[in-house]
Amino acid sequence: MPELPEAEVVARQLRVHLLGAQLNECRVGRADIVREGLPSLSWYHGAVLEGVERYGKSVALGFKKNGELRYVVAELGMTGLLLFRATQTKYPQHVHVRMSFTGGRESELRYWNPRRFGRLSLLDGAGLDRYRARRFGVDPLTVQGDEFVRLMQDRRGRLKPLLMHQQVIAGIGNIYANEILFRARLHPNREVNRLRGATIITLHGTMQSVLREAISCGGSSVKDFYAPDGTEGRYKRRHLVYGKEGQPCPNRCGRMIRRLLSERSSFFCPACQSNRLPG
Ligand SMILES: [Zn+2]
Repeated sequence: MPELPEAEVVARQLRVHLLGAQLNECRVGRADIVREGLPSLSWYHGAVLEGVERYGKSVALGFKKNGELRYVVAELGMTGLLLFRATQTKYPQHVHVRMSFTGGRESELRYWNPRRFGRLSLLDGAGLDRYRARRFGVDPLTVQGDEFVRLMQDRRGRLKPLLMHQQVIAGIGNIYANEILFRARLHPNREVNRLRGATIITLHGTMQSVLREAISCGGSSVKDFYAPDGTEGRYKRRHLVYGKEGQPCPNRCGRMIRRLLSERSSFFCPACQSNRLPG
């Protein structure tokens, strides 16, 4: 479930609590949680955490030792969490990696993942470049309006799957795609190549404001998201359509929120998000 806002909240907490700390030991409980780079694990012992970046729904920890930079990339994916030592989890047996630190505000960072949909990768600089090029499209928080218009107009197909296509726009999943499209008054199945430039510009503004607001609320806690320090995201209280099937449209248009079954559930208002309007 973690999407861009939750991953951003994680990255910010790691910066506050662990930047400059030294990694003493990184213990991997099950080898299959490491997607690539496991043989380089011992290099990280004694390295200093130099930077934390978010790419899409993933968080990359940059470590420096003897002038060299290497990275640990954690996919938060469906159920992965990065947690500090004191944060309790329901199923502690699903902590698969433990990193112990000295010199930071926290002494341990754990990678918890009950379903093992996410993974960790241990990468050097070139490996990180390849990893990013393969997986991540533009960042929805920083992409400019004109670039976003070009990106959308180059594509065919339906709007909501495109917003969630990580190699095109990295970080939006099902929850935020629903919330963004409702606020932009766009039907999830709109044909992308029939949208006008002005409509895409509006969508761009809505996308950025929804994501920024969610970050400022600490993300959304749906299906067990916790920040590293254990706090829950409060943006769930501001969800207007996600999970609201059968409830009155928040725009007071008189219709009920409906659920459209496709690859992922879509929640939308059939009046406010008509598929037939021009634009
Ligand atoms: Zn409505």
